[in-house]
Amino acid sequence: MPAVPAPSAAAAPVAPPAEATPASSAPIDRNDPVAVVAGPEGGARCSAATEYADESGEGLDPAVAAAWDAARRAATDAGVHLCLADGKRSWDQQVAIAQDYVDKYGAETAKKYALPPESSEHVRGLAVDVQPASAYTWLEARKGSDGFCRTYDNEPWHFEWSAAHITEGCPATVAHPAG
Ligand SMILES: [Zn+2]
Repeated sequence: MPAVPAPSAAAAPVAPPAEATPASSAPIDRNDPVAVVAGPEGGARCSAATEYADESGEGLDPAVAAAWDAARRAATDAGVHLCLADGKRSWDQQVAIAQDYVDKYGAETAKKYALPPESSEHVRGLAVDVQPASAYTWLEARKGSDGFCRTYDNEPWHFEWSAAHITEGCPATVAHPAG
């Protein structure tokens, strides 16, 4: 008998482990009507910290835009100014941001800061980047009562909106966008 073992018919392929993705993260397609809606480019500066933008909320999911307006009013009553540094992004805008991170930091680091468009909540119109630090600290302390929850340990400014957050509170954060 030859020493070379025959391929075993019993060695069935092992299924990869299921992705630990939340229900809201079903991949979006670049031709999805939501994915083609761009967010504002430029616009007003954040009066509390002029290095950041303060977008209008244009393009966000209507429920998110309404929740953002309500959160901003509540913050103002508390003496805190919330700025929307970045909200809605189109598929193409997300591709450009991800590529910018790759160019600046390399692919390995980039994936810890910018998701591909098919899995970005910004492309779905459900995510907001909040600035300055006084603003995102205030919003995180609300523990999802506005629907906004901090998602990542490495991005204290990034919040994702879900109606479930209002009733169930915020899920645990994850280290970074790549997991
Ligand atoms: Zn973000």
